[in-house]
Amino acid sequence: MVRRIYRKLARSWGQQNWWPAETPFEVIVGAILTQNTSWTNVERALASLRAAEVLSVDGIRAVTLARLQQLVRSSGYYRQKAQRLKDFVGFLDERHAGSLEKMFATPTDQLRGELLSLKGIGPETADAILLYAGNHEIFVVDAYTRRVLERHGAVDGRAKYDQVRLLVQRALQGARPVLPMNSRTKKVSVHQPSEMSATRRSSVSQVYNEMHGLFVQVGKHYCSKQTPRCETCPLRALLPAGTLSP
Ligand code: SF4
Repeated sequence: MVRRIYRKLARSWGQQNWWPAETPFEVIVGAILTQNTSWTNVERALASLRAAEVLSVDGIRAVTLARLQQLVRSSGYYRQKAQRLKDFVGFLDERHAGSLEKMFATPTDQLRGELLSLKGIGPETADAILLYAGNHEIFVVDAYTRRVLERHGAVDGRAKYDQVRLLVQRALQGARPVLPMNSRTKKVSVHQPSEMSATRRSSVSQVYNEMHGLFVQVGKHYCSKQTPRCETCPLRALLPAGTLSP
């Protein structure tokens, strides 16, 4: 089912250009700030950090916590999030000599364990950092992924994060990366290509990148929690027999 969903969405919408960022560190900051808030609020906080010239490892290290709180205020939970950013840079300094290159050269499972040991970094955030900032081969499971897979009978509501992640990873083995949008893909709103979306990565991490972006697209615009719009959704034909679509 996962592979069929991937093919259907890829053909319908083409590349989604994730993650919208210019540098790996910007991805990390975005992944931390996006917890429990909309991307629009994150964009405001990122713009403030950029304008204050602190959207870098050195910048976050140097800025005071109080000033950092002000700068990320628009992303909500700003005290915790400012502290998370400071904690991340502290971890980077302590474990990887302040170098993102060194950090991302760590084997995936080891680095994932290190990231998960940081306060406030859960599996979704850790995997977004690994995949989108470090090009590691790991899929990011979010609420949209779960909802779509549950409604299509691929997972049940009790499945743990890593069960869903491994299911998707196995299903996408050998899949081809999504082609760019073209005259046959439906026009949908996607991120503009960015330095990070266009970065060179393995075909496996490119497929995981695209699958996550496609799940976000279908979750945001069709598969809402309360009123899914199955009638017009590209995945309608893949609904399990007997499933009533509104
Ligand atoms: S909106 Fe309906 S068809 Fe589309 S993904 Fe959700 S359940 Fe499936």
